[in-house]
Amino acid sequence: MTRLLLIGPPGAGKGTQAERLALAFGVPAVSTGDIFRYNVTNETPLGLEVKSYLDAGAYVPDTLTNAIVADRLQEADAASGFLLDGYPRTTDQVAELDRLLDAEGTQLDVVVLITADTDEVVTRLLKRAAEQGRADDTADVIRHRLDVYAEQTAPLIDVYSARGLVVTIDGLGAVEEVTERILAALAERGLRASTTTL
Ligand code: ADP
Repeated sequence: MTRLLLIGPPGAGKGTQAERLALAFGVPAVSTGDIFRYNVTNETPLGLEVKSYLDAGAYVPDTLTNAIVADRLQEADAASGFLLDGYPRTTDQVAELDRLLDAEGTQLDVVVLITADTDEVVTRLLKRAAEQGRADDTADVIRHRLDVYAEQTAPLIDVYSARGLVVTIDGLGAVEEVTERILAALAERGLRASTTTL
């Protein structure tokens, strides 16, 4: 049973690392950003509801986001653990996740904070914009996403630090190196991946 959470600014590499860590630990990566984008692309009712928030780089309202995650964590593959990427992002979402886990009699094992300075994340996101054309990767929207992160999500680091859960990982360097750093930090905390060949 491994329950992990990845936190860090947009562009820190959470999504990339989430996929790799999920594979290593044999748990599903649950990315609220991916879930929302999938629904927007497929023009589902949820997608139509959240599109304007995503395009503006604003957070989707907590009630909606919380309901999506509660549903997702009920699915069979999450019974043996999960890796949350991009949730929780607000103090209300922390409270909801606490409630969900309490109801199951479980808790998070570790919160992995991936750091990267603002210049680096802006460079990365603009590069991704050129490659993938994500609607929220324009310079203005990126700036707004960074502000929203600083205002609403960065305070969560203190909340989880106070619980002794946070390991901080430097997100600069090759993808493989960053994964190695995370795996090493998790192993120090007694969390060993089932596969290390990535
Ligand atoms: P990034 O971390 O690169 O900004 P994500 O793919 O994690 O991107 O999220 C993209 C967008 O999806 C966010 O800007 C926001 O609109 C929405 N979103 C994702 N997760 C949450 C969340 N936990 N609460 C509210 N909105 C969210």
